Amino acid sequence: TVAAEVDETSPQKILAPVLSAFWDQPGSWTLDTYRRHDGYAGLRKALAMAPDDVIAYVKDAGLRGRGGAGFPTGMKWQFIPQGDGKPHYLVVNADESEPGTCKDIPLLFANPHSLIEGIVIACHAIRSHHAFIYLRGEVVPVLRRLHEAVREAYAAGFLGKDILGSGLDLDVVVHAGAGAYICGEETALLDSLEGRRGQPRLRPPFPAVEGLYACPTVVNNVESIASVPALIHRGKDWFRSMGSEKSPGFTLYSLSGHVASPGQYEAPLGITLRQLLDMSGGMRPGHRLKFWTPGGSSTPMFTEEHLDVPLDYEGVGAAGSMLGTKALQCFDETTCVVRAVTRWTEFYAHESCGKCTPCREGTYWLVQLLRDIEAGKGRPGDLDKLNDIADNINGKSFCALGDGAASPIFSSLKYFREEYEQHLSGRGCPFDPAKSTAWA
Ligand code: NAD
Ligand code: SF4
Repeated sequence: TVAAEVDETSPQKILAPVLSAFWDQPGSWTLDTYRRHDGYAGLRKALAMAPDDVIAYVKDAGLRGRGGAGFPTGMKWQFIPQGDGKPHYLVVNADESEPGTCKDIPLLFANPHSLIEGIVIACHAIRSHHAFIYLRGEVVPVLRRLHEAVREAYAAGFLGKDILGSGLDLDVVVHAGAGAYICGEETALLDSLEGRRGQPRLRPPFPAVEGLYACPTVVNNVESIASVPALIHRGKDWFRSMGSEKSPGFTLYSLSGHVASPGQYEAPLGITLRQLLDMSGGMRPGHRLKFWTPGGSSTPMFTEEHLDVPLDYEGVGAAGSMLGTKALQCFDETTCVVRAVTRWTEFYAHESCGKCTPCREGTYWLVQLLRDIEAGKGRPGDLDKLNDIADNINGKSFCALGDGAASPIFSSLKYFREEYEQHLSGRGCPFDPAKSTAWA
């Protein structure tokens, strides 16, 4: 894991790493280490503020959700009705599963107290006494570390009754999921947390109005909540000095694929992939970038021509994709785009929860077509069929998984149609001589 600093000459401000500042120190996950680095100082400041003032502060700072959609965090907190006589809940979505996305899990493993401190601040703001952390079930070492961090926080008076003498009571429950991608969708997550099969609910009502146990619930991503303590402690102006006006602050980018040094890179929003590659050693030696994703496979892919797109919500959006989870998967010229899209689509077909027809049936048929095309057994008209099926999934499915599945189909056809056509030429895959010698 490397924490990147941005060059002074870049349009972005220099950033000393925040979330990843001491990940490389021995025992970085312990309360002692966290407190040596100003841990829980933001909480003391927040508890001295009125709950509504904390919400207004986070809103003014411009923090946007780091789970993928970029919804303003303070605004989400403000949606929680007050004086309604119902319990309010905070649910942290730690079910990180988007292909290529691996920021929340390392963050929890290396620095779980930043999340716990953020949880207490958020619960103070929304007047909640119960928080849940829904963790991806496969990561058992992270689960153990989280349990230990929660235990430490209780013992030190940061959780439990009358936190730091403020009158705030708060209990935190860590819950491990069972490994379904769909349980990262916030309403499926809530169903799963309630003990049911995880399938998306109709929205609206959004969780802020009717969430866990039909009560107002804030569902926030790990990184969003873990960013709050530093924001409060060091101030909204400091936070706004990084990134852009509409996408301020720092964030974690997951760099993976055919790069020299894959890992987590902390930098301001608005940095470009070219800058990140420059500071991380670039693509693997002797190879060049062919295509990449700005936010995991659910976001339309980019090519070399997009290296200078600012990695913030507006910049990536204007270039025709979405920032998503900031999972920068980089593929070099040795990669068959059809093969990559086939693997991704197999993932979506496997993870489709089956609730709605366009996604359940469409992802199945996409896989059949793609497998044939990849193996050189495609037929004329298959590309139109691919496009047609993806079109019948996109915007017509019940949740974002369907749109995510359609997205690599559209973007790969847009940028690499010729490569699909090569597969349809009767000679098989040009990247796989084992399947066809005709390209040798
Ligand atoms: P969304 O834009 O529908 O909603 C974003 C958030 O804002 C939600 O919490 C939602 O409840 C809230 N919201 C939106 N409108 C609201 C309103 N009018 N009132 C109250 N609350 C409102 O996005 P989504 O479908 O929840 O999530 C899609 C995103 O998830 C994608 O951008 C994708 O990148 C990301 N994703 C992340 C992972 C991961 O592993 N982190 C996996 C898959 C997808
Ligand atoms: Fe389930 Fe897919 Fe429909 Fe979402 S889009 S509800 S994952 S079948």
